Amino acid sequence: MSLQTAGIHHITAFARNPQENVDFYAGVLGLRLVKKTVNFDAPEVYHLYFGDHAGHPGTIITFFPWPTSRKGRVGGGQVGITTYVVPVGSLPFWEARLKHFGISVMKAERFNEQYLQFNDNEGLRLELVEREAGPKSEWVFGGITADQAIKGFGGAVLFSTNAESTASVLEYVLGLKKVGQDVGYSRFQAAGDIGNLIDVPLTDVERGAEGAGTVHHIAWRAKDFEEHEQWQQEVFSAGFIPTDLIDRQYFHALYFREKGGILFEIATDPPGFANDEDPDALGQKLMLPSWFEDRREAIEANLQPVQVRELEAKSS
Ligand code: ZN
Repeated sequence: MSLQTAGIHHITAFARNPQENVDFYAGVLGLRLVKKTVNFDAPEVYHLYFGDHAGHPGTIITFFPWPTSRKGRVGGGQVGITTYVVPVGSLPFWEARLKHFGISVMKAERFNEQYLQFNDNEGLRLELVEREAGPKSEWVFGGITADQAIKGFGGAVLFSTNAESTASVLEYVLGLKKVGQDVGYSRFQAAGDIGNLIDVPLTDVERGAEGAGTVHHIAWRAKDFEEHEQWQQEVFSAGFIPTDLIDRQYFHALYFREKGGILFEIATDPPGFANDEDPDALGQKLMLPSWFEDRREAIEANLQPVQVRELEAKSS
């Protein structure tokens, strides 16, 4: 098969408090809240999407903030670290900004690149790396300029319980190319210029536990609906059981679990987040799929209101 994903479409993770989630991803990281909706399978829980100004594929992190959920443990069978890419020269700004908000940072190096690593308020592992590639975000918030703003995902570090199998799915199903091996990691590159560098530890990682502060799944890009059907066939031919093609309102989705335990999704670039609201007003109103509209009042009354707001400094 010759299909090649352009890279990460979105990453979906668990949180607890929705306002704290908005404060971290919009307030601290300066991402745009591009969609405020509910979990289509459980409308008592929000589904919050954060990305660049338009919520382009490759920039989107999504959360199910479930106030009563238990804390998870980052480990095998998950995206272990979510990597964001920032403009060249901006890491010192980010180090100071994160410290300003009381977030402790660590420095790491892989493949001759410097990483600034930190956790979100629930313990989800994140890192920032400077790269030239990828367009700058047009969304500026909270004193972050376009020369500093997160451009989107740089990639991810996949914690696999079976590194060999995961590597083989990346190469032979998703069409990434193996581009390097460093101390402890293999690196795979997808065709796009963002969300395109995926690192896999060479040794298997002990299984984690799902819950707040962990990633639920990673979605890979399909360029259109026609290619999405081809992906379903490709996944099936590779010996996995893909789900049906599911309409998620902002993209179509299919899911399969690879043998390293990580839930993979393939999601279409279209139709995008302007599907049901004005591009200038993304994320302001609670958007519901048509089949929930007649229950809007009850659904809204049951959710704690959230707002995007500027944050005060915190001492660490
Ligand atoms: Zn998804």
